[in-house]
Amino acid sequence: MARLLFTSRKFGSLADSVDQTARLNLAKFLNKQVQFMAQTHSNEIAVVDQQGTTPNADGLVTANKDIALAVRVADCLPLLLFSKQAVAAVHVGRKGLLNKVAVNAVKKMQELGASNIAGVVGPHICGKCYEVDAQMYADITKLHPATGGKQNHLNLYAGLVEQLSDLPLSNLDICTKEDLAYFSHRASGEAGRQVGVISL
Ligand SMILES: [Zn+2]
Repeated sequence: MARLLFTSRKFGSLADSVDQTARLNLAKFLNKQVQFMAQTHSNEIAVVDQQGTTPNADGLVTANKDIALAVRVADCLPLLLFSKQAVAAVHVGRKGLLNKVAVNAVKKMQELGASNIAGVVGPHICGKCYEVDAQMYADITKLHPATGGKQNHLNLYAGLVEQLSDLPLSNLDICTKEDLAYFSHRASGEAGRQVGVISL
């Protein structure tokens, strides 16, 4: 049975590579090594079978139950995927929806033998708060109709549900811009990040 959690502001920022306090606390709390990734809004997925250097990726997949996978976010969607055989942590923003990073993560899990995959999306900016310019709104809703709703606002979660229609997804329904308990780049321009973490 997979175990997962999402941190909030209270846990401290997991973005800071100088101050490692929150990272150390996380590893201590989980009693596992926590694998992070260098996220660039790509669609690269790294399969991790032992704790190592930080890969350039926006999705991590493992079948090793001794490793916890972390995705760092402020307003993007932290998507955690689980199955009996493998788990994944995926960073899904606007670019990630377009480049299908989540679809790639599911494929990698299946390559590791995963079946009956399900997912949960933690705190992220909601469709009522995520405003983009009119051109971007037009371009993205054309490709991903489900993201449309409020004028010039994108609902990325709805887009992800549409994209991953084969598997059950749930949403914690916490908006980082509205809820002050979470770091939000949009709300305050801050650099702090919370994480979603998962392990088998
Ligand atoms: Zn909101």
